[in-house]
Amino acid sequence: MSRDKLQEHLCDFETACRRAGLKLTHQRLEIYRELAASTDHPSAELLHRRLIKKIPMLSMDTVYRTLGTLSQHGLIHKIETIESQARFEVIYERHQHLICRQCRQVIDFQWPSIDEVSLPDELMHWGKIDSRNVVIYGICNNCNLLKTNNNMEISNDRDKKNWQISGAPVADYQNVMTAGPGFCAQKTMRRSSNDPSSPPLS
Ligand SMILES: [Zn+2]
Ligand SMILES: [Zn+2]
Repeated sequence: MSRDKLQEHLCDFETACRRAGLKLTHQRLEIYRELAASTDHPSAELLHRRLIKKIPMLSMDTVYRTLGTLSQHGLIHKIETIESQARFEVIYERHQHLICRQCRQVIDFQWPSIDEVSLPDELMHWGKIDSRNVVIYGICNNCNLLKTNNNMEISNDRDKKNWQISGAPVADYQNVMTAGPGFCAQKTMRRSSNDPSSPPLS
């Protein structure tokens, strides 16, 4: 976000605080400024870590209380997630959220037609619905890829251990891995020849 745009938001924030009867302290303003410039929906802890360099006296408690007050007055938005820590953001335009269960990344997405989706009857008879928000959960492509690579490493490690347990030198294992199935048969024979319980190779 450009500096001018951020400055504009800070002016709007100041006006909104005045209207809500909230005193605009230096710490409140800095917490808001940091959040307004963030795009990663930080938690209170993360905001505190980022701000402590600038405001060494800032306590974790002040960050919690400020975020609570600002979200109660609708000046910032609190996102409930699957983790124990809530995440926060300044909303510039309406959007929905996509959350990765693995890396906890929160991504914004637009769904303008969400208000046109018809709701189940029981919701319509419950009372007056005044807002709709959607949170979609899943595993992002990066995490999926990491998971696949880790699984491959674990399975390679397991194979390696099996070879070591059965007496094959690690170097042989590595050759087998790169040489393909024909080579594997050859190595298995050589390995058996080292085993006194195996019949001698012809
Ligand atoms: Zn992820
Ligand atoms: Zn968002």
